[in-house]
Amino acid sequence: MKSNERVIVVGGGIIGCLTALYLHRLGARPVVLERGTVGQESSWAGAGILCPIHPWLYPDSFTHLINYSLALYPDLHRELVATTGIDSQWRNNGLMIPFFADDRVHHRDAALRWSARFQWPVEQLDRQQCCTQEPTISPDVEGALRWPEVGQVRNPRLLTAVRKAMALEGVPIREQSPVAGLQFGGRGEVRGVVLAGGEVIEAEMVLLAAGSWSGELGAASGLSLPIEPVKGQIVLIKDEPERVRHIIKHDNAYLVPRVDGHILVGASMERVGFQRGTTRETIDALLAATWRMHPALKQARIVREWMGFRPGTPDGMPYLGPVREHAGLWVSSGHYRNGVALAPGSAELISRWMMGVQPEVDLHDFRVDRPLQPRAAIGLPEKTNAT
Ligand SMILES: Cc1cc2nc3c(=O)[nH]c(=O)nc-3n(C[C@H](O)[C@H](O)[C@H](O)COP(=O)(O)OP(=O)(O)OC[C@H]3O[C@@H](n4cnc5c(N)ncnc54)[C@H](O)[C@@H]3O)c2cc1C
Repeated sequence: MKSNERVIVVGGGIIGCLTALYLHRLGARPVVLERGTVGQESSWAGAGILCPIHPWLYPDSFTHLINYSLALYPDLHRELVATTGIDSQWRNNGLMIPFFADDRVHHRDAALRWSARFQWPVEQLDRQQCCTQEPTISPDVEGALRWPEVGQVRNPRLLTAVRKAMALEGVPIREQSPVAGLQFGGRGEVRGVVLAGGEVIEAEMVLLAAGSWSGELGAASGLSLPIEPVKGQIVLIKDEPERVRHIIKHDNAYLVPRVDGHILVGASMERVGFQRGTTRETIDALLAATWRMHPALKQARIVREWMGFRPGTPDGMPYLGPVREHAGLWVSSGHYRNGVALAPGSAELISRWMMGVQPEVDLHDFRVDRPLQPRAAIGLPEKTNAT
């Protein structure tokens, strides 16, 4: 196993920060270079659901990776609470997919098959059971599937906790340090990075963890990484705690109830480049979908709306591993809709691999030079606005 390597981690989201923390614990000398402020982009904006929206649509290799990552959450949570005192409110309040007469897509059979194959406990609820479990759900509901062990985390708090753990353990972060390009030696090996201001920082290894921006940063150095932003808008509402009990996912929206009565309603899927800002039309559509599922939430207070850029990929899967033609260059990017769920697993596997330990999960399907294979159901959406 290697040690004492200088490693530059480009990007201070959940992926870059957690990987840097684990690299440090393995004896490397990482520094996180962040263009702006740590943890303010996708990792802040996301909903924190610890389960892909429709996991049965993904290849099995993805489920293995997700399962590996989710199994690390309880220990990560306990450890961060103990060392930093920050509670990211990780909890298993369950996921419910209700069924209504005019649903666009019916997932029941595929979901049940997938759950049985991968041993995710699931219950089939009839209308009455559904209304007992979710007393304020619309009386039009016909039934539901319920996964009692699906969890959530408040990702901004998770980031704050990881950042504090990094400070406590002496892992350096340089904010306001945009990386403009990579530096290579004569044999193509990575030598470091150059910042926008011209400063060159040398290192034996560089990890690209710049989320939605990894694609353009790679391209600036001749690297083909088809990662592009997929904008998601979210609206936060506030009601009594327990008004909604489960994470609820339906055709047009999902609800993520926090313990204090805040309910996060997400999220649009828009391929509009790096266009920031929320739009009235999309937020109204999210609210309409919410009220249809839970009419009682019409009385909830609208607190805030925001957006973020998911690091999207054509096949919906992250890029994880070394760049073969550039020794020392690694990628952990493109986590798309699942970066919070995948963060502990990605960080653990990539940090160990960078230090010479072969990953215990098969990461072949996530290799950086895999063929481009767009998957309509889980990859990039059409280049139009849609909720
Ligand atoms: C609306 C929405 C809902 C989501 N819901 C969920 C969910 O429920 N569950 C889930 O698991 N995931 C969810 N996600 C996805 C998840 O948030 C992302 O996959 C994850 O946060 C990606 O983390 P990251 O660290 O790769 O990217 P980011 O958090 O975007 O971090 C990348 C960092 O790199 C920095 N950077 C960029 N370019 C440079 C440069 N040149 N130099 C230096 N720094 C640079 C950026 O400033 C940024 O801080 C959601 C995302 C959105 C937007």
